[in-house]
Amino acid sequence: MKAYRLRTADLYDPMGIDLQHPLLSWNLKGGGVRQTAYEIQAAHSWQALEAEDTIWRTGKVDSSSMTNIPYAPVLDSREQIFWRVRVWDESDSVGPWSETGRFEMGLLQPDDWTAEWICGDYLPEEGTRYPADEFRREFELEEEVLRARLYMTACGVYETQLGGCRVGRQILTPGSTTYEKRMHYQTYDVTDLLVTGRNIWTISLGDGWFRGKAGAFGASGIFGDTICVLGQLEITFRSGRKERIVTDTAFSWCNDGLCRFNDLKDGETLDFNATPSYGGRTRTVTWETELCCSNNVPVTEHEHFRPEILHTPDGAVVLDFKQNLAGTMAFRVNGPKGHRTSMQFGEMLDETGNFTVKNVITEDTSSPYIPDYCDDSRFQTVDMILSGKPVEYKPRFSVQGFRYVRLSNWPEDVREENFEAIAVYSDLEVLSKFQCSNAELEKLVENTLWSMKGNFLDVPTDCPTRERSAWLGDAQLFFDTGCYFMDLSAFFRKWIRDIYDDQCEDGKIYNIVPRCAPHGGMNGYVEGSSGWTDAGILLPYRHFKQYADRSVLESAYPGMQKLIDFLCSRMGDTSDPELDKKLPDSPFRKYIVTTGFHFGEWNEPDTPPMDYMEPKYEVATAYLAYSLQCFSEIAEWLGHDEEHRKYAALAGHVRDAYCYYFVKDGRIDSKRMCELVRPIALGLIDGETKRTALADLAALVRERNYHIGTGFLSTPFVLPLLSEGGYDEEAYRMLENRSYPSWLYEVEQGATTVWENWDGVASRNHYSNGAVCDWLFRTACGVSVISENHFCIAPVAGGESDFMSYAYTSRYGVVSCRWEKKETKVLYHIEIPTGCTAQIRAGRQDMGCFSAGVYDFTI
Ligand code: BGC
Repeated sequence: MKAYRLRTADLYDPMGIDLQHPLLSWNLKGGGVRQTAYEIQAAHSWQALEAEDTIWRTGKVDSSSMTNIPYAPVLDSREQIFWRVRVWDESDSVGPWSETGRFEMGLLQPDDWTAEWICGDYLPEEGTRYPADEFRREFELEEEVLRARLYMTACGVYETQLGGCRVGRQILTPGSTTYEKRMHYQTYDVTDLLVTGRNIWTISLGDGWFRGKAGAFGASGIFGDTICVLGQLEITFRSGRKERIVTDTAFSWCNDGLCRFNDLKDGETLDFNATPSYGGRTRTVTWETELCCSNNVPVTEHEHFRPEILHTPDGAVVLDFKQNLAGTMAFRVNGPKGHRTSMQFGEMLDETGNFTVKNVITEDTSSPYIPDYCDDSRFQTVDMILSGKPVEYKPRFSVQGFRYVRLSNWPEDVREENFEAIAVYSDLEVLSKFQCSNAELEKLVENTLWSMKGNFLDVPTDCPTRERSAWLGDAQLFFDTGCYFMDLSAFFRKWIRDIYDDQCEDGKIYNIVPRCAPHGGMNGYVEGSSGWTDAGILLPYRHFKQYADRSVLESAYPGMQKLIDFLCSRMGDTSDPELDKKLPDSPFRKYIVTTGFHFGEWNEPDTPPMDYMEPKYEVATAYLAYSLQCFSEIAEWLGHDEEHRKYAALAGHVRDAYCYYFVKDGRIDSKRMCELVRPIALGLIDGETKRTALADLAALVRERNYHIGTGFLSTPFVLPLLSEGGYDEEAYRMLENRSYPSWLYEVEQGATTVWENWDGVASRNHYSNGAVCDWLFRTACGVSVISENHFCIAPVAGGESDFMSYAYTSRYGVVSCRWEKKETKVLYHIEIPTGCTAQIRAGRQDMGCFSAGVYDFTI
């Protein structure tokens, strides 16, 4: 038995982390079914490890755990660790050593930094946008380099080169955080980019999330007007001597390079006649923040696509990449000097077949809900001035959501080989493989994965076009589904920290983090919406259930406590003179949430646009009860017994109050599907009331002819609840429905990602409705993780499909289940990974608990 897939802090061989005692994990393969013991060895080099010259060895530890084993020794700045593991099986025979895993620490102490923040020699005016900054420094190295590291970050987004070679493969560094609270720096191995003799270090700096328009509505300058960069190059020579070259006033500067304008959302203006002069000086600036490692996967380039060329009815030339994605486009072009041309990126063609961005711009500036700073004047556009020479380029400071690109005033024949769309997203490991005889269900799963790819760019955004904002509601609703698709452990560890970095004084968590518009104003009014702000509790809770990393809970705990108290402060009477009519007085009323703005169910099909001002007592109270329950469990896990008791009791009171006001005689009297779904999904009702609500839900589904009737908050729960109530048939029919509104309607309309609205009139890349895939994986294919090294495999063969198969690369290895209908029987094929067990139920029969292996059943 041998360990493989070695991970450190849920990352593969990370360079530049700052977690003390990072957690080590592996999977198992080869002979044997059960791990009974492991031994880990760690050393400072590959060779030392081979020679068993270790700095840490666990010896043989009796344990079946293959995840979350803390690296024990205290780690120093820059320390590089090589580690390996071997395991014993059930017959106590030891297997071979694994391949070597490695990790390297970043700069752990503030005084490790001697670099200075530098910016261009100009004083930016508020609201004015400037060309990209270019910095350059030459230096001589007199000796041969043994090892070199570059540590770098920026207020803005940077790209850096040594000797003309781009450093690293990360895009849009340093990523998105609340910059005045925390900034992530990247660590690069640049040993091979330095030479003995003359070296040139250049840096290009764009506006990014710091100064650009990055999110909802298009506010800019959110974090400041001065963009600046910080970099520290540390060199060790073969002789043992060390040298450090840092950003300081020895760099020269200019902003007369080719990038005349740059914005994540609005695109770029590129003048190919311009070359940077580096004729100016740099200034040093101060920027107070906490510098740390992201301990997250990097944002990188992924799939590449060639277009089909369309000539649309309005006479335009449009590139169709056939896949809606977030990313950039590489192109080649040649045209006369001074010729202006441009490309605009969009998601769809309109009803007449012409390119449009109407579905993703917030152009109704007269709306009271659109702030004054809204401006879509050059949405997702790259403008260019050509030089008379051929150019080959790829925008560096913008990322667009698109399937189509409209070319305007293109100077030459449009040839497909001159264009390449490149998907850009966080480098998350894909864990799911779903196959099915129904190609449309496969497409729905594929579209959901593409909507994750389109939105998981350092933070989880709602869409990569209109708002590009890390909305908390979307993420909490999708989190468990997302964990099936991709390894989200490090990504959400990072974002949960971001969420608490920006916690409001009163304990509230903002609806969007990091902010993309100024706090206060209209945004201040909508902040703290139930279902969104609750993500501050629900994400750490679910993250722990998925990944069992206590450190995430422990560091979020004080913030969670403030949040839960804030949520509780919204209970009770308000000054609303109508309150007695809406909620007659009772001993329960003090537990009903009567204050705060709440989006509510949001986006229900066939309902008029929601009334923003209407109080949302039902939704807000339901979420409070649920968050209290989850928080009380967190308190228990962390051993805070008093808080556990206090909040569990409070959760009970809020649940009782919910039932008093919203359940009558054991029944929920509503034709709104969400009002049946919510109390069941959030655990507010049980027993006969729950059974009745499930039956009423199934009846409503039949009544609506298997169409979706829920909005944003409840849609993810509908199919799982139908199955829980024994209504698998209804669940299948609802999923397989092809008429509007339904999941497969959009697939039939040619969707390549998941849409925000069922009719496709708004964003076409909104992952949240793809949460239905959870039901396909967990229920239809029946694969779920129950506890460490243990699964439940309980497929429900049904619907129109002849077969379904699902393989999930879980934390404990690849678990899979396939079912196939054969005449009156169903064949099941199940694989349980080495070191694990599974409880198997097939065709409603409990088959028992099985250990690692491959099993076939016919029922
Ligand atoms: C976004 C959603 C978000 C919502 C708040 C929308 O405009 O696109 O995904 O959660 O606002 O209700």
